Amino acid sequence: MSDYDNAIFRLATAQEAELEDYIGEDGLLYCASCRQPKEAYFPEGKTFFGRDRHPKECDCQRKRRETLEASHREYKHREEVERLKRKGFTDPAMREWTFENDNGKCPQMHKAHAYVECWEEMKAGNIGYLLWGMVGTGKSYFAGCIANALMEK
Ligand SMILES: [Zn+2]
Repeated sequence: MSDYDNAIFRLATAQEAELEDYIGEDGLLYCASCRQPKEAYFPEGKTFFGRDRHPKECDCQRKRRETLEASHREYKHREEVERLKRKGFTDPAMREWTFENDNGKCPQMHKAHAYVECWEEMKAGNIGYLLWGMVGTGKSYFAGCIANALMEK
């Protein structure tokens, strides 16, 4: 968002001054908590709908917004991980096939970790793993650990 768009957005969502806020020497409203201005003049003395200033975030408002945005991003990420796991796993038990739940008995598991850590490279080079072994040796589990870790990413 440009500064101008941001200013317009803030005009549209202007908040009331909080009780302890004060007017500074420059005539702008200041936050009582962080002592940063909650308004700014339009550049070069311009006005917009008769106003010479627009609301501006003080440090506390910015921190509040950033916290909210971070929790929204985290929520969207969890939602996407959930969608991938619902779509990707036929058996819900596979969700438990993770590095965290690994009992450490598979001597090759470090290769699964390496695959996940180098995922971008593996994907770009179209590099996969060929797993072989007797029934019950943990091939599906190995693959499940990789899948879970990649979905979490
Ligand atoms: Zn503040």
